Order: sequence, then structure tokens, then C-alpha cells
Amino acid sequence: MKIRENVSLKPYNTFGVEATAPHFVEIHSTEELQQILRQWQGGKPFILGGGSNILLAGEMRRLVIKNSIKEKAITARKGDKAWVSAGGGENWHEFVRWCLEHELGGIENLSLIPGTAGAAPIQNIGAYGCELSEVFHMLEAVELDTGALHSFGREACRFGYRDSIFKQELKGQYCITRVSLELSTAHHQLNTSYGAIRQMLAGQGIGAPTIHDVSRAVVAIRSSKLPDPEVLGNSGSFFKNPELPYRQFEGLQQEYKDMPYYPLDNGGVKLPAGWLIEQAGWKGKRLGDAGCYEKQALVLVNHGKASGRDIFELAQRIQDDVQEKFGIWLEMEVNVV
Ligand SMILES: Cc1cc2nc3c(=O)[nH]c(=O)nc-3n(C[C@H](O)[C@H](O)[C@H](O)COP(=O)(O)OP(=O)(O)OC[C@H]3O[C@@H](n4cnc5c(N)ncnc54)[C@H](O)[C@@H]3O)c2cc1C
Repeated sequence: MKIRENVSLKPYNTFGVEATAPHFVEIHSTEELQQILRQWQGGKPFILGGGSNILLAGEMRRLVIKNSIKEKAITARKGDKAWVSAGGGENWHEFVRWCLEHELGGIENLSLIPGTAGAAPIQNIGAYGCELSEVFHMLEAVELDTGALHSFGREACRFGYRDSIFKQELKGQYCITRVSLELSTAHHQLNTSYGAIRQMLAGQGIGAPTIHDVSRAVVAIRSSKLPDPEVLGNSGSFFKNPELPYRQFEGLQQEYKDMPYYPLDNGGVKLPAGWLIEQAGWKGKRLGDAGCYEKQALVLVNHGKASGRDIFELAQRIQDDVQEKFGIWLEMEVNVV
């Protein structure tokens, strides 16, 4: 474990933008992390996972700690349940596959989401009708100021839509070193409510899908819709889908009759940000090498030589135009650093 100097972060972020870490270290255990925190006197470090939800738009002035804590274990079994844990640096999709190999259900809809297990609770990763919070049990995290190890249960994490306490009050304060989930070992509760999954399974003649069938369907759908960061730099959905009070939505619906929406339990509605961006004329457009993906307007892409600043400026232009057209401010989902 050696602190290196002036390390290029280009290979460490899925946007593939250039940035330099003045100091960079990779940790493989909680003890290594605590040792680094004791030894480092240069201010609060930045924790890096797979770099799939960050936009490096400014100058990095902090020690970058790359979380490579690996471990996967089934820690308990009882009835139809099993508790599994993953080190914070485990690759999320490999962890999902490992759970599937052990016939454990509950995260099959979250297949192929890039990044690490340790970052998954931060924005409560979600896809195809499921969110991490539904299977979350607890996590362990080291406080960066003190080096102390703390546990957080589900309540303490305050999960919300692409949100948790680690994106709010505790932003940048902890390094998540271990995540524990409660999964099913039998009688899996499959979620195939999402139209594209239902259609794919029906198209394959699968009437009684298994967790493996659902995972394969999700992988196929994702691969057909989202750009592969290895080919075209991106960070997945750049903006959150905005939630509106019903009254505001009604007003908009009078003007935009075909506006898609999802009713929420609290009486409000969620609008697809991709549709709003497309209506504002941005789908497939680019400003230099920073672009709005031609197949899904919610995804911003790096066509080659865009800087983090270029992508950030494109995102701001999109926010302004959507605000002007619909009176809705799109919140960025990606962490701008
Ligand atoms: C093609 C593509 C598709 C995507 N699809 C989805 C999707 O369907 N659903 C979804 O929810 N997300 C999606 N994402 C976003 C991303 O994959 C997730 O947010 C993922 O959890 C980020 O993990 P990471 O390890 O790459 O985090 P990073 O990008 O490395 O970090 C993100 C933030 O978390 C912090 N952080 C990282 N690790 C830790 C840790 N161990 N402890 C404390 N803080 C930490 C960082 O400091 C940073 O602020 C997608 C991204 C891409 C590129």
C-alpha cells in the first residue's frame, strides 16, 4: 500500500475524462484504510469506487483512496433467507452473479449496474422496478475524520429515490467498507412488472421465470439501450427523474397531452427526465465532444476528448432549457467532483 503521486484518473472514471490525483492510494482492507487515515495529514480524502457515477469537472486536490476491499460471503441462513456480505470494493455485477450462482434472489433486477458494492447504498442503486434498499440489511463504514468503524442499519441510511444519508448530511464523511444484504434462498419474489422485462420473457416463451431468466433479460435490455462506457464514455443516467406535486403536473398535462408520467404513492407524479430533455431538443445533440446520447437523452456521453468541464457545461445548458420550457429543474444524479 503505497501513496503514489500525480496519478491520471482517466482509467478510473467511466466518462473517460482526464484529471490528475495529486496523491492516490489503493486499499484492500479496513485496516489498510485506517492506517492510511492515521498517516495522512493532508485533509479529507476522496473515496473512489468504480468511477461510474462521478464527473471529474474540477481540479482534484485531495488524496484519492481507491476502495479495493474484496470479500464475498454468506454469513447466515434461516428459513428461506440468507444474509450475504460484500467488501466495499467488490464489483457490483460480479457480486450479483455470485449471488445467482448460489441461488440467492433479490438483486437480479440490479444486474449489470456498473460500480462497486460499497457505492451501491450511496445513491440506493435502482433499476427495473427494484432498489437496493429493498434487500439492504446493514453496512459498515469508516469515519474519515477519526478512523472509527461504524454500522448503519436500514433506518440510519435514510434511503430515498437515488438517495441516502451518504449523499446528504454524511456526504464525503465515510468510506463504506462492507455491505450486507438479506436475500431469498427459495420462493423468490420476482419483480417482472417492468414492461420491457415482461415482453422479453414472453418473447422467449418463458412463463415461469427463474431469478436467472430475469437477470439475463435485464442484461440483454441494458446492453441494447445503454452505451458501454468502454466504447462511449458515460455515467448512466445523468439526471434524476423529477417528482412533482399533482397540481403542477395537471397544469403541464394540459399543454403536453402525451407527457408520460408515473403516479407516486404520495399523490404526486414522477416524470421521465429523458422525455423532458428530448422535448427540449437535446437528444443526439453535442457541444464539441460532450453529447446527449442519441438513443437515450438522459445519458450524457463523451465522444472522445470532452473534459469534465465540457460535460458539466452541457448538463447546465440542458438544465436551463428544461427549466425554461417546463418550469422543472433537473437535479443531477451524477456526483460532480
Ligand atoms: C452505463 C451505466 C449505467 C448505470 N446504470 C445505473 C442504474 O441502472 N441504476 C443506478 O442506480 N445507477 C446506475 N449507474 C450509476 C452507477 O453505476 C452507480 O451509481 C454505482 O453505484 C456507482 O458505483 P461506483 O463504485 O462506480 O461509484 P463512484 O462513481 O466511484 O463514486 C460515486 C460516489 O460515491 C462515493 N463512493 C464510492 N465508493 C464509496 C465508498 N465505498 N464509501 C463511501 N463513498 C464512496 C464517491 O466518493 C462518489 O461521491 C450507471 C452507470 C453507468 C456508467
